[in-house]
Amino acid sequence: MMIKRCFAIVIAAVMMAALLSGCAADNSNTETEQTHDELLYLEAEGQTYDIGTDLSFEPFIISEDGELSGIDIELMQAIADEMGFSVEWHPLGFALAFSAMDHEMVDAVMAGASITEERERKYDFSNGYYECSIAVAVSPDSGYESLEDLRGSTVAVKIGTTGAAYAESIAREYGFEVAYYDNSDQLYDALANTDAAACFEDYPVIRYQILHEGLDMTIIAESDESFTYSYGLAVRDHDQAVLISAFNEGLRRIQENGTYDEIVSSYLR
Ligand code: GLN
Repeated sequence: MMIKRCFAIVIAAVMMAALLSGCAADNSNTETEQTHDELLYLEAEGQTYDIGTDLSFEPFIISEDGELSGIDIELMQAIADEMGFSVEWHPLGFALAFSAMDHEMVDAVMAGASITEERERKYDFSNGYYECSIAVAVSPDSGYESLEDLRGSTVAVKIGTTGAAYAESIAREYGFEVAYYDNSDQLYDALANTDAAACFEDYPVIRYQILHEGLDMTIIAESDESFTYSYGLAVRDHDQAVLISAFNEGLRRIQENGTYDEIVSSYLR
């Protein structure tokens, strides 16, 4: 009887120990992971990052008299303030910002850059911060009402963008030529002076031009989900893990405290 009870106690003790050590092991694992992540984004504090951006991509990047504003600029600034790092902007143009990053002249690109599978093969991206499709816009008095009407004409796109990739992907089907420009303003000019029948650009960007800048354009088509992407902060592959971690944590915080919504809704209503 006595022996049996002792045995039972020993078994109970062993089970308890196993259980406790199991718990302890689990706990320490999570703690280590957590600490590792925290340490990573803490390392951004006090750093200054060189960020390449577009020349103009309203309302995400607005350049007026050498002053930058817009959703991307303000989101990045809010995240930097939250996480204690500084940012130096380099408005280079979309494609040039990426080549500057390839040549290690800037640390990252924040320019309404869509997270595509193709780009993910070459770059690392933060979590997405804004999702949208691509719009096809024409002059209202042009008579073009659908993609079919563009047969035989030339459409304007910005070099290296998803708008360009979308136009290229349907050019043969709809029988149009694609003309390449360096920045968004040139697309609208090409449309206005009839160098191009249509322009392909991200939906909220076109919408902003129509609603807030009073540009005479109508949207006649929109990409489906195969050309709908989220914008992300881009860095060289396996580089800038600290910045990406700090950006993601900062984005999470400003989404939680309402700053994100305030910034986005101040430009896009
Ligand atoms: N979102 C588009 C892309 O990543 C366009 C970005 C831009 O023109 N700044 O290609």
